[in-house]
Amino acid sequence: MSRRPARLLFDGVRCDGVGICMVLAPDLLRPDSWGYPLISDQPHDKASVREAKRAVRACPHKALSLE
Ligand code: SF4
Repeated sequence: MSRRPARLLFDGVRCDGVGICMVLAPDLLRPDSWGYPLISDQPHDKASVREAKRAVRACPHKALSLE
């Protein structure tokens, strides 16, 4: 049985743009012109899933999640 790939989700209403997520997951998140994160790629391997998990855990406003 194959597992579905993890999907990184972003809730812009919760985000205050501090930006620690983009430091912890630079391969998945990049800043928009206002400094808020944009999802630039989805996790596709173990390393990028780990990166996404770090960003999700570090977000102080729970604006990021993995499904
Ligand atoms: S860490 Fe959370 S609140 Fe801060 S910029 Fe990233 S998503 Fe937004």
